[in-house]
Amino acid sequence: MAGWPIDLEQTLVTYLAFTAIIIFRYFLIVWPIHWALWKRDPNQIKAKRLSKRNPTPHTIRHEIKLSTLSAFIYAAPAAIVLEMWKAGGTALYAGPISTLSGFGYLLISGLIYLFVQDTYFYWTHRLMHHKRWFTLTHAGHHKSVQPTPWASFSFDPLEALISAWLLPVMALFIPLHVGMALGLLMLMTINAVFNHAGWEVYPDKWVKGRFGKIMITASHHNLHHTKFTGNYGLYFRFWDLVMGTDKGQA
Ligand SMILES: [Zn+2]
Ligand SMILES: [Zn+2]
Repeated sequence: MAGWPIDLEQTLVTYLAFTAIIIFRYFLIVWPIHWALWKRDPNQIKAKRLSKRNPTPHTIRHEIKLSTLSAFIYAAPAAIVLEMWKAGGTALYAGPISTLSGFGYLLISGLIYLFVQDTYFYWTHRLMHHKRWFTLTHAGHHKSVQPTPWASFSFDPLEALISAWLLPVMALFIPLHVGMALGLLMLMTINAVFNHAGWEVYPDKWVKGRFGKIMITASHHNLHHTKFTGNYGLYFRFWDLVMGTDKGQA
C-alpha cells in the first residue's frame, strides 16, 4: 500500500507537534472570542445573548480539561495521515490550481467533506444520546447546559475517538487540496466556537432568513444544550429537518 509503512519515530514527533498545535489553536481562537463576548460591557456587544447565566469558572475548567484531552486523541489519526501523505499514500494534493475544473473540484470537494462530516456527526450524535451510550460517550459535553466558547472542543475521550478518525480517513480516499483541508479545519473550529458561545453572533436578519434556515448557528445549537433533545446537526439543519428532530431556534 502506497504511503505505508510509516516511520514510527517520525509519526510520534508529528503526533506530539499536532497535539500542541491543536491545543494552541484552541486557546488562540477561544480566548479572544470568550473575552469579546463575556468580559466586556454587554451594552457594547452587537450580538444577542442566549445564555441567561454567566459562565462559571467551574464549567470553564471542565470544558478546558476535556478539550485539552480531546487534542491528544484528534492528533493521532491526523499525524498518521500526514506521515502517509509525505510518503505519497493519501488523496491529499497540493500546488497551484490554474484550471476552471480545478477550482470547480476544489469547491465540490469542500462541500462533499462538509456534507459527509455533517451526516456522520448527526447520526453518531443521535446514537450517543441513546441512554445506553450517553454516560459513556457524551455526558461530558452536556455538562455545559449553558455552554461557553470553551465547550467547543469539550468531548469525552470516547466521543473524541468516534469523531477524530473521520476526516483523516476521508483524506485517504476523496481527493482534497491541502489548502481546502486547512480551510475546513478553520471553519470547523470557528463554527464550533460560535455555536457554543452563549451569544448569537450572526445578525438577526441572517438567523431568521435563508442562511439560518439552512445553517446551524448558536440559536439552534444552544437549544440542543438547554433542551437536550433535538437539534443534533453540526453545520446544516438538513438532517434535523428530514428526520423531524429540528426544534427551531432560540
Ligand atoms: Zn448532544
Ligand atoms: Zn454542543
